Amino acid sequence: MEGPIVDGFGSANGPIAFIDRDGVLNFGRNGYVNHPTELSIIPGSGKAIAQLREKGYAICVVTNQSPIMRGLWNVERLHSIHDELRRQLLAEDSNAVIDLILTCPHRNRDRCGCRKPWPGMLVKGHNLLRDDRQPNRPINWAGEKPDFWHPLDAMVGDRKSDMGAGWAVGARTFEVSARHGLPQVIDRVLDSKDSGDFYDPMRW
Ligand SMILES: [Mg+2]
Ligand SMILES: [Zn+2]
Repeated sequence: MEGPIVDGFGSANGPIAFIDRDGVLNFGRNGYVNHPTELSIIPGSGKAIAQLREKGYAICVVTNQSPIMRGLWNVERLHSIHDELRRQLLAEDSNAVIDLILTCPHRNRDRCGCRKPWPGMLVKGHNLLRDDRQPNRPINWAGEKPDFWHPLDAMVGDRKSDMGAGWAVGARTFEVSARHGLPQVIDRVLDSKDSGDFYDPMRW
């Protein structure tokens, strides 16, 4: 199966906020979120998305969902879960619009380029939102942080794999606890002088 799976559209004139899903926008579960009825947003995440939009950010959710390639459920189920995610965010704040949701359906053994910490979903989001077909520069995992596309681009996640994907495209990286999610760091992300958490790709 090709990936990532694309849901939505939009365009970015300013920075892009790349945001993990489980443990950042909604509560994670033991195992996976397998059905829309199992999804509940972390309170404050809708308001945080609206704040990002007000500051000119495009919103690109990037989520690893290997249950699809494990055969546990299909793409229609994925879209129903994401419809519910969008609905709950909008119920909290009517400006909490997500432009794009990109999903990697693969397992590690599928050796795709989109499963975080690989940056394929962030590259795809950048290409779609900025209409930029240029291939991404090669990544030197052991070297300096790569150049950014936009100095305020940000990646918010609850795992080191999220941080790795953000680092690989030169984004500011913000790590949250899975219980507190995006609201935990929203003031920092909105602070243009905050360059994000230190992340060392060789130490995790
Ligand atoms: Mg997560
Ligand atoms: Zn993938």
